[in-house]
Amino acid sequence: MQSSGTRPISSLKIYLRLLSYLRPMVGLFAISLLGFIVFASSQPMQAAILKYFVDGLTMPGGSSFHDIPWVGKLDLVYGVPLLLVLIVIWQGIGSFFGNYYLARVSLGLVNDLRRALFESLLHLPNTYFDLTNSGHLISRIAYNVTMVTGAATDAIKILIREGLTVVFLFGYLLWMNWKLTLVMVAILPVIGFMANAASAKFRRQSTKIQTAMGDLTHIASETILGYRVVRSFGGEDYEAQRFRVASETNTRKQLRMAKTAATFTPALQLVTFSTMSVLLLLVLLLRGDASAGDLVAYITAAGLLPKPIRQLSEISATIQKGLAGAESIFAQLDEPPELDLGTVERARVSGHLEVRNLSFSYSAERQEVLDDVSFTIAPGQMLALVGRSGSGKSTLAGLIPRFYQHKQGQILIDGVDVADYTLRNLRSHIALVTQQTSLFNDTVANNIAYGDLAGAPRADIEKAAEAAYAREFIDQLPDGFDTLVGENGVLLSGGQRQRLAIARAILKDAPILILDEATSSLDTESERHIQKALDHVMANRTTLVIAHRLSTIEKADIILVMDQGRIVESGSHATLLAANGYYARLHAMQFNDEDAADGSATVDADISQ
Ligand code: ATP
Ligand code: MG
Repeated sequence: MQSSGTRPISSLKIYLRLLSYLRPMVGLFAISLLGFIVFASSQPMQAAILKYFVDGLTMPGGSSFHDIPWVGKLDLVYGVPLLLVLIVIWQGIGSFFGNYYLARVSLGLVNDLRRALFESLLHLPNTYFDLTNSGHLISRIAYNVTMVTGAATDAIKILIREGLTVVFLFGYLLWMNWKLTLVMVAILPVIGFMANAASAKFRRQSTKIQTAMGDLTHIASETILGYRVVRSFGGEDYEAQRFRVASETNTRKQLRMAKTAATFTPALQLVTFSTMSVLLLLVLLLRGDASAGDLVAYITAAGLLPKPIRQLSEISATIQKGLAGAESIFAQLDEPPELDLGTVERARVSGHLEVRNLSFSYSAERQEVLDDVSFTIAPGQMLALVGRSGSGKSTLAGLIPRFYQHKQGQILIDGVDVADYTLRNLRSHIALVTQQTSLFNDTVANNIAYGDLAGAPRADIEKAAEAAYAREFIDQLPDGFDTLVGENGVLLSGGQRQRLAIARAILKDAPILILDEATSSLDTESERHIQKALDHVMANRTTLVIAHRLSTIEKADIILVMDQGRIVESGSHATLLAANGYYARLHAMQFNDEDAADGSATVDADISQ
């Protein structure tokens, strides 16, 4: 939060920036403005018509529309009802054009903001997602944007419609009796002052409400996604408690805001009606030679004033809410996107991968995750990374497609630094199966042919599925390749999900293949099958395999053993065993385990993660 001293300037900046989104819609806005002018002009007309009605009552036959052109000769008896209907029609037309075209403008604005937010998500660096919780990101798109609509539609509508109503009524009052009217003007600053005092408070409270809203979404989505863990570990009470606190905090904050609004409105009423009573007194004292109709019309017009003035004073709350919403929207839009300064684009690389003295830490405060790592893989070779959990294997794999930005050392593909490729081109050369498989709530076929692969021929998709050993279970699904997999593939087993992820990578047919624990959820038999299929796939591409189960990497051309971010051993399976070091110990342990488990391999990956 900024200090309150800089508030007005930044509010104005935010508002101007919001308005800049409206620039392309100036035409629609002008139509709406015209509509509201028509609407507002009808207000004093309604007061004026009363003048003729009362004059007609008090002076039968003695009064007419002598001061209105065109209708001057009309009889009051027919003229007053007729004019009243015409005025309402006039008002209705204005109201329609004003409201409808303003809605087009503001919904257009919401659409633009929502899309800008979503598109920024697609280009924000991974670090941003690591540090921001998803509930807040989602509630920004769902909730903040609607608050901005509030500022854009309701506030602008009231500002224009009620603002113009005040102007027209005021003009009419001045024209009727300027002296009286000037007395009223003296009281306006009081109203203005009160409105200002409340607005600062509203803004502060509504920022708090947004954070509370984000917390709610966050807790709800965590519980929804992790409902199995919640149930199996008896987390119900904890989650219920956590949600209750967040929900109650939210309610309390909303209530406080409602309280500010609720005390503010009657206070303002008091001020405006005190003004009215002073006015009544003055009207009665300074009546002069005005007719009864004049006085009634004057007081009616003056009586129409408090409502628009009150609404005008309340829009500051709406605007403040909208600005608070817009502030966090713009903060996200201003986040620098993923660094993409490279210019090199290759149709296809050979897959020569070299890492030179690579060191990396996720942030300045954290300790190094990779420490002076160097290795080379020739095109078509297979490199395996093994090592303890947390030793930096996935981190290393993620730096190759530049999910994170390294500062020390180099990663070269075909001799070109990865930073020199355009991001899109670089990533098109790499097929990656990560530790956490991500599936979309779509069909099996569309999950395999995702993104750039969308629209791949069905035959290719089937071939990829076959290579990933996924065909046998896909054929058993109710709709085969057209079966929906559920949110993140919940309708499939862990191993089935992994096979789809592998099929996706195979279909991509990229020269560099990275498999991070890609077969960890599979039974030994399926894994053997996939391994065989992968041998075929790996044959003509550079492959980096990360595996806990050593049996899967025995054939690797090079095995790198990592520990605490460093490469502690490297070589082929045979040489590493002969060296009798870390790898040999690890191998011996797994071999014993496998023995103990009667020949079946240990499944040491946690499927539930
Ligand atoms: P595993 O075998 O369990 O998958 P790993 O070797 O793949 O382990 P990494 O995921 O590379 O290990 O993690 C290495 C270190 O980096 C860990 O200490 C972890 O805490 C840290 N780390 C991983 N991801 C992030 C992140 N996004 N932000 C900050 N630190 C991270
Ligand atoms: Mg990992």
